Amino acid sequence: MFLTDYHVHCDYSADSTTPLRPQLEAARAAGVVQLCFTDHVDFDDSGLPPADLAARDAAIEALRADFPDIAIRRGAEISLKNEAVAAATLAYCKGRDLDFVIASLHIVDGVDAYYPEFFEGRTQAENYARYLDFAAKVLPTNPIFSVLGHYDFCAKFAPYAERSVRYAHAADAFDSLFRYLVQAGKGLEINTSAWWDGPAWGLDVLRRYRELGGEFITTGSDAHQSDRVGKRLGEALELARAAGIPYVATFERMEPTFHKL
Ligand SMILES: [Zn+2]
Ligand SMILES: [Zn+2]
Repeated sequence: MFLTDYHVHCDYSADSTTPLRPQLEAARAAGVVQLCFTDHVDFDDSGLPPADLAARDAAIEALRADFPDIAIRRGAEISLKNEAVAAATLAYCKGRDLDFVIASLHIVDGVDAYYPEFFEGRTQAENYARYLDFAAKVLPTNPIFSVLGHYDFCAKFAPYAERSVRYAHAADAFDSLFRYLVQAGKGLEINTSAWWDGPAWGLDVLRRYRELGGEFITTGSDAHQSDRVGKRLGEALELARAAGIPYVATFERMEPTFHKL
């Protein structure tokens, strides 16, 4: 199987302490043939400083020769909020010659869906819907990205026994996200990190993405630690295939290459 991990963090992200090398060694052990480091560039009031991309990219170049079996790409995960945040992000990344950019939503109404308080005072359906509604609203504020990251981030740290995000939780928001992605030539990420060790979800969501013209996905573990690099990427590809999505994409200098699923 052609395994590509296009969402990996390292210690250039403020929330990871794992150096580049062990992430790459873990990728090799997991059979990953392409890996993109997507360190955080947050101007959304997360309180975390943005990754020093220049230093990280120099460190990547110094390691490349030790990993001839892995195509290593230089990416970023940028946080969505509004036009001002998009402009600051763009200015920060200017001249960095990135291969790939994930646009992600983490904070809604000033609260990160990482924290328990995000979920207080509302039902599961209300919480998932407001996350996706806000994602649909703010995605168009950022013109420079390759894929929408983890549409199900609202489930990752959710306090529910059954955490899966379903298309029916936010049908209108999903439709407007997918219509935007398709007309803009952008893709959707299948992020395996919210599944933890439970069953995979997303087939209904991916089917709708396909119905609305979605042609490609990327797959990412969102690993901040080595034990999660490459995790469940095969299942992500199976889901995409089952949904009828034709391609998994890889990127170089923001240009996609499409690989038949
Ligand atoms: Zn994220
Ligand atoms: Zn991430």
